[in-house]
Amino acid sequence: MARYLIIGGVAGGATAAARLRRLDESAEIIMFERGEYVSYANCGLPYYIGGVIPVRDRLFVQTADGFRNRFNIDVRVSTEVVSIARERKQVEVRDLANGAITVESYDKLVLSPGAEPLKPPIPGIDIPGIFTLRNVMDTDRIKQHCDTTKPKSAVIVGGGFIGLEMAENLHAAGMEITLVEMAEQVMVNLDYEMAAEVHHHLRAKGVTLLLKDGVASFRDKGRSIEVVLSSGRTIAADIVILSIGVRPDTKLAREAGLDIGKRGGILVDRHLRSSDPDIYAIGDAIEFANPVTGRSVITLLAGPANKQGRLVADNIVTGNTRIYGGSIGTAVAKVFDLTVASTGASEKTLAAEGIPCVASITHSASHATYYPGASQMSVKILFSPDSCTLLGAQIVGASGVDRRIDVFAALIGKKGSVYDLMEFDHAYAPPYSSAKDPVNIAGFVAENILTGVMKVMHWRQVPGLDRANTFILDVRTPGEHRAGTIEGSVNIPVDELRDRIASVPRDKTIVVFCAVGQRAHVAARILRQSGFEEVYNLSGGYRTYGTVLRDSPGPACC
Ligand code: FAD
Repeated sequence: MARYLIIGGVAGGATAAARLRRLDESAEIIMFERGEYVSYANCGLPYYIGGVIPVRDRLFVQTADGFRNRFNIDVRVSTEVVSIARERKQVEVRDLANGAITVESYDKLVLSPGAEPLKPPIPGIDIPGIFTLRNVMDTDRIKQHCDTTKPKSAVIVGGGFIGLEMAENLHAAGMEITLVEMAEQVMVNLDYEMAAEVHHHLRAKGVTLLLKDGVASFRDKGRSIEVVLSSGRTIAADIVILSIGVRPDTKLAREAGLDIGKRGGILVDRHLRSSDPDIYAIGDAIEFANPVTGRSVITLLAGPANKQGRLVADNIVTGNTRIYGGSIGTAVAKVFDLTVASTGASEKTLAAEGIPCVASITHSASHATYYPGASQMSVKILFSPDSCTLLGAQIVGASGVDRRIDVFAALIGKKGSVYDLMEFDHAYAPPYSSAKDPVNIAGFVAENILTGVMKVMHWRQVPGLDRANTFILDVRTPGEHRAGTIEGSVNIPVDELRDRIASVPRDKTIVVFCAVGQRAHVAARILRQSGFEEVYNLSGGYRTYGTVLRDSPGPACC
């Protein structure tokens, strides 16, 4: 009878345990969990704190007893594995209730220890009222603090997914929110101009957003905490949520001498085996090559952890028959009324990796605009200039974002190209989409760029333009032009361009823009077919340019 031990009983570990049992009824399976609970929804924790999920029990997908009854798995909660003796194929286990140490042997061991929140040695970081959020115990502490002290103000440190979800949920609970982020933008998975849309939305919701500033120290002020920023600014808060990132929990693996990668995760092979063939590792703790960049990465997402859990169970029982292809990091988050999603690589990641890419930004309606309730979504895609392969996508919008990002993810995961976007055969009826879906439109524009039908310029390039030799042409209506434009632009509405073409200089580079790029494309085609060569459409139009312009403080333009 095989003996399988699993360390970590939440996303990856619980999935692996259940699948192991479904494949091998005779095995002895023990799952160790340091915390009090197994198989709960980490992803639901912010919504329970905010009251959107009103009943705490709803967070538990499965209980320890449920696991025992349904899967005949020996679940040991409040039990920490403290060491792995690989040569003896044993683990040393501490019962956290009484400190008792026992030893268990294994045939195969699965590590799914997750990640731990970063808590840098900032002065005052241990003052009561400062919390990190990783598990149910953290959640209970935050909830209890909120219930007993009724905080009116919160400082969220860190603008990642969890920070933003906490901002929204504490805002919903009636608190004044200040979000402090050291980088120039929230949500590191997005490129700046896409994140800028999120910044505007946060500010519109009343969140005080402090970018490019970090926490220098915390001071205990009795009933409140004074948060002192690197800029010298101070903020009073009744509660502080630290959400500045996590690191893979690799203590056990390191001490057992398993190979650790450059990013600090447990190195695994394509069967998800660590450097010891009898020890598998999954979830937040592992490091694996990103299929788009080829770069070793840590993926902190529940989907990959769950899928890896299933796959290792298959490999353990069937003898390494299944190959893990890696995660392209598909993620989605609700940020107040926006849905923000990304998949594959961002432009800044591709640039850092030296991978050539072309970027294109389009703005499309979530469904037919003549049917009530349509809203615009901003779509940015990245693709290879040589192979036309899709490399990444980001979407920010009010509705229909989740559906489109999964289409991009499916295509990127299968090494699809710009042409696959164009040909994507989507379901259409007015309440759901348009005859040309936002995915198709992103493909059409990308094809225009690849084939040279359209040349594009990006917002970052505008400040560096040689203005003496550039003609910036605003082809929107005079009303739109008056409401805000690029400094120095000349307004010729697209419908008048053919009649007024003589006023467009032939010896200059022409940068055409409209609201989102569609009218500018028509104008650019008129100009190109009238003998103008250097004609560029501003990608994303004034909507993207204006979003960046209004974002303060903006990034340095290059
Ligand atoms: P975990 O699920 O964290 O489980 C690891 C477990 O191992 C822990 O319970 C830990 O106590 C236990 N453990 C560690 N060491 C030992 C030891 N030595 N002995 C015994 N037990 C040990 N991802 C998404 O994709 N979408 C979301 O919306 C989303 N929202 C999130 C919201 C929050 C608040 C948090 C915290 C995470 C969120 N995530 C989300 C991330 C997702 O939850 C993780 O990627 C996923 O849980 C990772 O699975 P895992 O098995 O690697 O680790």
